[in-house]
Amino acid sequence: MRVHAIQTGRVLIKKAQIEGHGYGLRRQLAPVISSQWADWSPTYAWAIEHREGVIVVDTGATTHLKSLPRWHPYFQFAVRFDIEPEQELGPQLQSLGIGPRDVTTVVLTHLHIDHDGGLAHVSHSRVLADGDEIARTAGIKGALLGYLPQRWPAWFDPQPLAWDPKPYGPFARSASLTAAGDVIAVTTPGHTPSHLSIIVQDGDEQIMLAGDTSYLEATMLRGVIDGISPDENVARETLSNIRALCAQHPTVYLPSHDPQSAARLAERRIVGPRRQTRNATSWPPSTTIVAPVM
Ligand SMILES: [Zn+2]
Repeated sequence: MRVHAIQTGRVLIKKAQIEGHGYGLRRQLAPVISSQWADWSPTYAWAIEHREGVIVVDTGATTHLKSLPRWHPYFQFAVRFDIEPEQELGPQLQSLGIGPRDVTTVVLTHLHIDHDGGLAHVSHSRVLADGDEIARTAGIKGALLGYLPQRWPAWFDPQPLAWDPKPYGPFARSASLTAAGDVIAVTTPGHTPSHLSIIVQDGDEQIMLAGDTSYLEATMLRGVIDGISPDENVARETLSNIRALCAQHPTVYLPSHDPQSAARLAERRIVGPRRQTRNATSWPPSTTIVAPVM
């Protein structure tokens, strides 16, 4: 199994979006009001070359994000995209030798505009998303929340994920995306109330394609929530669950906008201390303390 990091351009957001400042509405307004921009961040989509077919996780940004509705304060004051046509998902899949008909499944961690932008490139695939997340995009409320379903291709009709009530590690619900059971969606609410992540079991390690559960591995480790999540307690609990997962099993943690995600994937750099010997008794470690690696 191979996992590819596909960078679909860059995004500029405020520091207060990456690390939430304050509480409640103040925290959620800070990304719009603040004048402190962070550095440009990558926007990653992922392709999993699996023997059952290619699975794409998120479809990334597209050039249409360079023009956004100006009436929305977030789009006007809090975000900028930089992407060229050849950086979109389709051309990058082609350069990996993956054609549109090779992609059997697309799964969306959530439906924010830089995660569902490249849908036009995967028109032959089944597309899965959380049913409540799909419902949240509708109408004026969806528009106020920053979803742009009117930009979806006309054919787009995502299937709601059939969640198994069975937990996966610390996560309440899961859904296997392969017959082999080695690519699993898990519920990671926080950044949006129905956000999901994908866990790829590959040998001794698991790779967590974490969407926007946090913008950085470092903020996940520190338990610092972002400036977007509507419910602070829910978001904090998800970060705690991810740390618990990393303590239970060697995990490579890959948020969509972490500048270090591609390097961590290439090096299979796990969260926390790497085992000296690969035997069953050496993991989990006697303590569950995990150290930042960035
Ligand atoms: Zn998002």
